[in-house]
Amino acid sequence: MSTNSTTHPTWLIAWMEAKEISLWGAADLRNFSTPSDQAGNRFPIAISFVIPMNPIIMDSIHKGPNQAYADEYTRVNKHINELSTTLSVEIKSRGFQSLPLAASVRSDPVNIKGDFPHKTAATRAGLGWIGRHCQLITRPFGSWVRLGTVFTDIEIPCGPPVKKNFCGSCMSCVEACPAKALKGSEWYPGLAREEILDVQACDQWKKEHYFQYHKGHNCGICSAVCPYGQRLLKKLR
Ligand code: SF4
Ligand code: SF4
Repeated sequence: MSTNSTTHPTWLIAWMEAKEISLWGAADLRNFSTPSDQAGNRFPIAISFVIPMNPIIMDSIHKGPNQAYADEYTRVNKHINELSTTLSVEIKSRGFQSLPLAASVRSDPVNIKGDFPHKTAATRAGLGWIGRHCQLITRPFGSWVRLGTVFTDIEIPCGPPVKKNFCGSCMSCVEACPAKALKGSEWYPGLAREEILDVQACDQWKKEHYFQYHKGHNCGICSAVCPYGQRLLKKLR
C-alpha cells in the first residue's frame, strides 16, 4: 500500500461530519508495533478522532472525581466504541482491512496499559501533544477529551506528527496531583511514559481513594486544572 494520496476520501470526510467529529486525522504507524486482528493482519495506519468531555463536569473534579464525571466517562467511552466499530465496518465495506481499538481497556493490567496508546496515534495524526500530565492536549478542547482509534490499511494522508509540547513553564498538573505521580517532564516524541508519569503511584492512589468510581479507574484532577481545558470555560461564561 502507499500513502501518496494527498486528500482524505470524500466518504470519510462526510462520515466524520455526519458523526459531528470536528477533530480527527490519520497517523502513519509503520515504525510502531500495532495490534493484529484475528487473521494476523497488522495495520500501518490509524484513524484517530477526538470526542470532547463536558467542560462543566471536567471543571468539577479539581479535588477529585465525582459521580457525574464517572458517568460522563462511561458515556463518552460508549460513544467512542460505537463510532469506532461503525467506522471499521464502513472501511471494510470499501474493501480495506480495519480494526477498532477499544476506548478504555487495560489488556495489560500489570503494566497498566492497553493494546496500543490512543494518544500515540493522536500525536502522530497531528491532533495534539502530550502534556506534563501524560495526556493528549488538543488546541480546541485541551485535554478534556477522550480518544478513538481505528487501525486500517486504507490509503490516506497522514499527520504531520506533533513534535513538541506547549506546556511552557506551567506546572499546575504536577503541583495538583495528590499522588505526586507526575515528574514534570517535558514531552517529546519517543519519550517513555515512565519519564512523565509514575503509573503505579497514580493507579494506587486512585484505587485507595476513588475505588467507588469504576473500581479506581478515574481521577482527572491533573486534567481539570490544566489551563488548556480551563480556557474552554471562559468561552461558556
Ligand atoms: S490521574 Fe490523579 S493521581 Fe493520576 S496523575 Fe493525574 S492527578 Fe495524579
Ligand atoms: S497543567 Fe500545565 S503543565 Fe500540566 S499539562 Fe496542562 S499546560 Fe501542561
